[in-house]
Amino acid sequence: GLPDPEAGARVVADDRAHLFHSWAAQGAVNPMPVAGGEGRYFWDYEGRRYLDFSSQFINLNIGHAHPKVVAAIKDQADRICMIASTFANDRRGEAARLIAEIAPGDLNRVFFTNGGAEANEHAVRMARIHTGRPKVLSAYRSYHGGTATAISLTGDPRRWANENSGSASGNVAHFFGPYLYRSHFHATTEAEECERALAHLEQVITFEGPSTIAAIVLETVVGTAGILVPPPGYLAGVRELCDRYGILYIADEVMSGFGRTGAWFAVDHWGVTPDLITFAKGVNSGYVPLGGVILSDAVHDTFRDVAYPGGLTYSGHPLACAAAVGTITAMREEGVNENAARVGAEIIGPGLREIADRHPSVGEVRGLGVFWAVELVRDRETREMLVPYAAGGELARPVDEVVAACKEGGMWPVYNYNRIHVVPPCTITDDEAREGLAILDQALYAADKYVG
Ligand code: PLP
Repeated sequence: GLPDPEAGARVVADDRAHLFHSWAAQGAVNPMPVAGGEGRYFWDYEGRRYLDFSSQFINLNIGHAHPKVVAAIKDQADRICMIASTFANDRRGEAARLIAEIAPGDLNRVFFTNGGAEANEHAVRMARIHTGRPKVLSAYRSYHGGTATAISLTGDPRRWANENSGSASGNVAHFFGPYLYRSHFHATTEAEECERALAHLEQVITFEGPSTIAAIVLETVVGTAGILVPPPGYLAGVRELCDRYGILYIADEVMSGFGRTGAWFAVDHWGVTPDLITFAKGVNSGYVPLGGVILSDAVHDTFRDVAYPGGLTYSGHPLACAAAVGTITAMREEGVNENAARVGAEIIGPGLREIADRHPSVGEVRGLGVFWAVELVRDRETREMLVPYAAGGELARPVDEVVAACKEGGMWPVYNYNRIHVVPPCTITDDEAREGLAILDQALYAADKYVG
């Protein structure tokens, strides 16, 4: 459509009069009205177009307005929009089958939810009942969702206010995962980091009491909290510790799954099979809300004769499942995972390393597929963060300035404290990736002036 600033102003007026926003002080909310999107771009009502280097909430893996996914939803809407989960439905069963086919090992059953937090809620509930144990371990530097159990698992400052208000469910202990650039274990090599992180995890298990621990919940590649790619051997080590102590391994693949790392699931890179996988986001790129838990045969069999005490009105919603079938089919037909892997290896990775050479504010770049972080520092020697952990307001200004410069240049980034994340749709072309990196390159001069 043509630019229509007055329509945009009306959209914002309704929003500010009546919408309550996530994670925000309502008085500080000032949303940009969006008029439309296609592929890797979306645009406002002023005629300004943005290259989407965020994939919205790192969920729009297939890009905006993919015709095959839109057609799958329309086709389903014409046939039946809602049928209760007690009935069998064609697209619901097909979506579960497709997900079981791409899942590793004997993860053969799918419980559908509406999103990632609910998926983690249910995975933990299944693990507690399966093991008869109450406690869960999860990592500092993690995000698992905004509901009571999921926020308890989360190792991010967003947990704190929920604990203070009594809104987190508890019965969770946290541990440090591997993060060589800021090693908690004084490690200097990946092998050392891996070995020490596993020794630390085993100590936490020992001191928490193995017989009290139902599950370890772990993002395969940590997303929001840093795009932390596990060193070789770490996930296999977690699997082994879980087996040794009778603990279930829950892989949170809500952000890392469905193409983000260039594979269906990030665990595929390391050949590890968890007991439960939680997913959401990329399963249908959020065209209709959908998440879920993939269960191993053993966990499934716990509920063969005993009722599972949980459910949702919209479990396996036909429109959401049709969108998942359309998405997975299109991703297969178009080689979307292969594209993400290739663009990451050939364009984004090398491009970010060149950017790091030019900008003293860049401490480290890391990632795989279309899942990258640029970690910004005040000093490369001390690695002092350009924005401190959990900081907001004036302290966050250096990264706010980089973000503003990206948007000014026509690219929409994601950021978290001292990091800019490069997380475009998995369908991004080489030229679009280069275009976004060039904008980021220019924007980072705003960070360089804080160095030294
Ligand atoms: N787990 C991970 C790893 C996530 O990144 C997120 C969302 O960002 C969630 C869980 C929560 O998913 P949702 O927002 O769909 O509840």
